[in-house]
Amino acid sequence: AAWEKRVRQSSTPKRPHGLSVLVTGAAGFVGSHCSIALRKRGDGVLGFDNFNDYYYPSLKRARQELLEKNQVFIVEGDLNDGPLLRKLFDVVPFTHVLHLAAQAGVRYAMKNPQSYISSNIAGLVNLLEVAKAANPQPAIVWASSSSVYGLNTENPFSEEHRTDQPASLYAATKKAGEEIAHTYNHIYGLSLTGLRFFTVYGPWGRPDMAYFFFTKAILHGKSIDIYRTQDNQEVARDFTYIDDIVKGCVGALDTAEKSTGSGGKKRGPAQLRVYNLGNTSPVPVGRLVSILEGLLGSKAKKHLIKMPRNGDVPYTHANVSLAYKDFGYKPTTDLAAGLRKFVKWYVGYYGIQPRVKRENSHADDSA
Ligand code: NAD
Repeated sequence: AAWEKRVRQSSTPKRPHGLSVLVTGAAGFVGSHCSIALRKRGDGVLGFDNFNDYYYPSLKRARQELLEKNQVFIVEGDLNDGPLLRKLFDVVPFTHVLHLAAQAGVRYAMKNPQSYISSNIAGLVNLLEVAKAANPQPAIVWASSSSVYGLNTENPFSEEHRTDQPASLYAATKKAGEEIAHTYNHIYGLSLTGLRFFTVYGPWGRPDMAYFFFTKAILHGKSIDIYRTQDNQEVARDFTYIDDIVKGCVGALDTAEKSTGSGGKKRGPAQLRVYNLGNTSPVPVGRLVSILEGLLGSKAKKHLIKMPRNGDVPYTHANVSLAYKDFGYKPTTDLAAGLRKFVKWYVGYYGIQPRVKRENSHADDSA
């Protein structure tokens, strides 16, 4: 009963016509930022996360504390737990789901391929099964990834470009997610909006991503690998600041049409959309490192190597005109300004916890 009360309180909007959103992956990087932004606006937000140990669990717990301060409660559970998800939908008539829970990272797939299948495919299907049977059926906005463009060399990437050359199992599961969304839209009239994020970075970010572990390495005098492509080009990423991504997620939620089905019965043509959310300005990884060196006041020990075939792609670059047209998405933070905010957070976070326990974290790059 106390649990149910917290679930209800957290997911009740505080403004007229506010949304009631289930945010999966709420203890994650993007999920924590989106949850706070929505709650501050007066929407009802219930978090959901399994707090897995892919990277520092302490960081997820610290984000959870921040969410609690912002009156967002996180229910601890797995996407594959159907009864628990159904119970949440029985208690709360969610108008929207922001589905961000996933096994992220491209390189870890070589160590633990099953976690991608379990969270990104089976978990997604389980969530859609519950959503389709819910009354009302929520509109769903979910995280796809720029990695679906894979080895495509047309750039900038536009939504209609081919996505049939995934370079990693991660990318393949994100692409599969888009196909699965298509079927749930087609059969059950679920409203589904996929967002292809491009290398998101910022405060409270993911320790497995390059900008984060480069910062750590530079501060500790450890060497870093900088990839060059087989034809000796610099690897580049369309690094996108978290606040821009949050605005994109909120814009997608606000413009999502209602589902046309209900209780898994009625069916009709609801919305199915996919958008790029990037920064539209790719930056070579060498430049990322020199910005960090400037901010940290210390030189990196750089080790230039040819890119191994580990799931990374050489280049990403978003065309975001579709997201601009439909919900005014316009990235406004350049890499130097965004990294300054990240470094400020990093120093503060680890400054107040100087003796960080050694915990499990896997090196990774984008995605
Ligand atoms: P993250 O790992 O910080 O957040 C994901 C959260 O989901 C984690 O807290 C994790 O504990 C939770 N989770 C994972 N599997 C779960 C399961 N089966 N059940 C319940 N919870 C589970 O990652 P992020 O960077 O915040 O990414 C959010 C979403 O955006 C993911 O879908 C990711 O694939 C996608 N994405 C991220 C980036 C990026 O650069 N950060 C780029 C492209 C796509």
